[in-house]
Amino acid sequence: MPTYDYLCLKCNRRFDVVLSYAEYGARPVACSHCGSENVRRKPPRIRLARGEEAALESMADPAKLNGLEDDPRAMAKMFREMGKATGEDLPPEFGEVIDRLDSGQSPEQIETEVPGISDANSGDLGAMGGLE
Ligand SMILES: [Zn+2]
Repeated sequence: MPTYDYLCLKCNRRFDVVLSYAEYGARPVACSHCGSENVRRKPPRIRLARGEEAALESMADPAKLNGLEDDPRAMAKMFREMGKATGEDLPPEFGEVIDRLDSGQSPEQIETEVPGISDANSGDLGAMGGLE
């Protein structure tokens, strides 16, 4: 479950609250130090470099992701754009995945045919699948 970072406006101390997505916003949050409900959620810490953040934001656009799972070529294109946007060289395994997507293979097929690919790229491919 995600951890939310809160600041108590009464005692001015910060505390973490672990809430499920369903609970967040639906349940009052009280300060773990003084019990006050006069709390404010702190803005999330910025961990990503500017380029990566922009890339991820555009990726998180549901309209863009719609149907991508069924369209390997569109997915390959998006991965390429992502690589450009972050300004990083994609790992070689990633290039192989993109080429295979481009030739119309499904991600599942690629995972079974390229040994170790799901290990090497589980973060990237997993993030794709995890966006609902
Ligand atoms: Zn407090």
